[in-house]
Amino acid sequence: MPVNEQSLGLAKEIVKCGGAVAFPTETVYGLGANAFETAAVENIFKIKGRPNDNPLIVHIHKDYDISSLVSDIPPYAKKLAKAYLPGPLTMVYKSRGKVSSAVSCGLDTLAIRVPSHKDAQRFLKYINLPIAAPSANISKHVSPVTAEHVYSDLNGKVALILDGGKSEGGIESTVLDCTGEIPVILRSGLITREMIAEVAGDCGEYVLKDGEKAKSPGMKYKHYSPKCKTMFFVAGELDKALFEYEKSNREGVCAYLLCDDETAKAAAVKNVLNLGKNGEEIASNLYLKLREGENKAQLIIAVAPKEQGGVMKGVMNRLTKACKDV
Ligand code: AMP
Ligand code: MG
Repeated sequence: MPVNEQSLGLAKEIVKCGGAVAFPTETVYGLGANAFETAAVENIFKIKGRPNDNPLIVHIHKDYDISSLVSDIPPYAKKLAKAYLPGPLTMVYKSRGKVSSAVSCGLDTLAIRVPSHKDAQRFLKYINLPIAAPSANISKHVSPVTAEHVYSDLNGKVALILDGGKSEGGIESTVLDCTGEIPVILRSGLITREMIAEVAGDCGEYVLKDGEKAKSPGMKYKHYSPKCKTMFFVAGELDKALFEYEKSNREGVCAYLLCDDETAKAAAVKNVLNLGKNGEEIASNLYLKLREGENKAQLIIAVAPKEQGGVMKGVMNRLTKACKDV
């Protein structure tokens, strides 16, 4: 349903009764429920088939008092919030234990996000509750960036999908640990390390070491994967990718090349999923093209873009998890 008084009224009723509602944000669509209610939060894990050790992000409207949910907010986090919120930045703090412990899967921290999408803000303001929300897709599938994507994954499992058009950002928020001396990126996204360091003075990046317990449990899972087969090549391996492309199509396996605009031009083949020209454009198109690809291809052959800094860090994280056998 489009976002209006009627659908918002319905959304509020569903959430107050412990149900889940899909809603648009500037990154991807979310599947939200009342973060105070354990049964409502557990229902989200059930709907998605999400592993029960992968914590959820709590979404709040821009005037919600965050200090009622978390403590020990460092000065650098206040500066970052002022610079980038509302926006695609999730910040992890020490939890006050007010929301259900099911949200953070027993961790003593809480991830909080203030989305900038106007319909997300309307929804959150209307309900005026912290909303626990992962992406509105079946676990491990490509994240949804349109209401149609949500429908195709969750039809019959969710009572209401609020339709706010295409999510322009296209990849999930940056997740930032704000419990230490300096902020540390747990998941890259549209708010880049450079942007964080510029405001906070410094910014670390968490790298999961072999055998270590993940600080952000979501990191360890295969994710964002299309339903068809995939292959992955690094930038500069276009010749190898084209060899596989020709071979597959010759053998009757419908293959599509997934790549940036520059590579698409150099490849000059018929079946192309063109991600666009720069980091922002590629991020915005990534899930759209992966979903388009799985509907028309039997094999997606991904070639990584040459550009690697800034937003491309987040894109590469999603692209490798989607298309590479890791
Ligand atoms: P998703 O909801 O699928 O966008 O995933 C949420 C991401 O946030 C996952 O990578 C989680 O591991 C991460 N996350 C959520 N809560 C926490 C937390 N309290 N501490 C660290 N990471 C978190
Ligand atoms: Mg997700």
